[in-house]
Amino acid sequence: MQRENLIIIGSGPAGLTAALYAGRAQLQPLVITGNQIGGQIAITSEVENYPGFPEGTTGPELVEMMQKHAENFGARYVYDEVQEINLTNGSPFYVKTYGDEYEADALIITAGASPRRLGIPGEDAFIGRGVSYCATSDGFFFRGKDVVVVGGGDSALEEGLFLTKFADTVRIIHRRDELRAGPTLQRRAFANEKISFIWDTVVTEIEGNGLVQTVKTMDVNSGAENVLTADGVFIYIGHYPNSKFLEGQLVMDEHGYVITDDFMRTSVSGVFAAGEIQDPYYRQIATSVGQGCAAAMQAEKWLSAREEEDQPAEVAA
Ligand code: NAP
Repeated sequence: MQRENLIIIGSGPAGLTAALYAGRAQLQPLVITGNQIGGQIAITSEVENYPGFPEGTTGPELVEMMQKHAENFGARYVYDEVQEINLTNGSPFYVKTYGDEYEADALIITAGASPRRLGIPGEDAFIGRGVSYCATSDGFFFRGKDVVVVGGGDSALEEGLFLTKFADTVRIIHRRDELRAGPTLQRRAFANEKISFIWDTVVTEIEGNGLVQTVKTMDVNSGAENVLTADGVFIYIGHYPNSKFLEGQLVMDEHGYVITDDFMRTSVSGVFAAGEIQDPYYRQIATSVGQGCAAAMQAEKWLSAREEEDQPAEVAA
């Protein structure tokens, strides 16, 4: 069993920022990265709203810089996933990954969120054969093809715009007649000649022969069904928190988001959470970075107070 001062579970912007701050506080944090370092931004094509990058940057570039930055201050990375955690006896907390077992004096949970699935016939069967949740990774394969994007939020439009670099046509299928996405993305999408919109429509089935060929759709008002030819189906209908491994260990809301207070404290003293695992509202790189920073500062205070045998409850007061 490996004993650690501070383990950070997850390596998105919240986790990497927590690692940077904890590293600078001499805590030598261990980051258990999850199945992809960087989390969701690792698969985000363009990042245009993170301060300090007036020309924009890409998700993978930002991840690399954040990772190096934290590493320069002593953060260590384990490329593994947490399978089990036990918080019931308090600190030290038990953490089991596929490769190892750990005890940690304090924990910061930044396991993030994952793309939601439509749950329709053909979706699972065609993942990697035309169905994708990541235009950054898969867009290249759709050069000269026709694709559909499902969703009406920022992700659908941003990734739809990215796909126009490769695909001939991008049809965005949205279940309402009004987009959820912000005005800037809306303006850019409406101005792009390759993009068209199919309103008040849901996708009910994905079909093909080895690779995606068609999608079945239904007009939500009339119930009318239609079949569209498509080589690719990119699905952007929101996210769910990656909190299954925390069930029964921490207080969560009805959607599985970890509840934290203003000091990023969870229901267990010594366990902090930051980023999309506890934030269903803002979900921005900038907000996750801020939350990761706050969690690391609180974890550092908690660990110092504990060393001095103070009560954890008084830490943030
Ligand atoms: P989102 O804002 O939750 O949008 C999800 C979209 O999918 C909505 O339009 C929703 O329709 C639709 N949808 C949900 N369930 C569906 C279903 N079963 N069938 C069909 N459509 C369905 O998710 P997101 O676009 O991933 O964005 C998540 C957060 O990240 C947001 O806060 C967003 O602002 C942020 N974000 C920001 C940027 C940026 O600023 N550049 C980029 C990406 C994401 P309804 O509209 O009818 O609910």
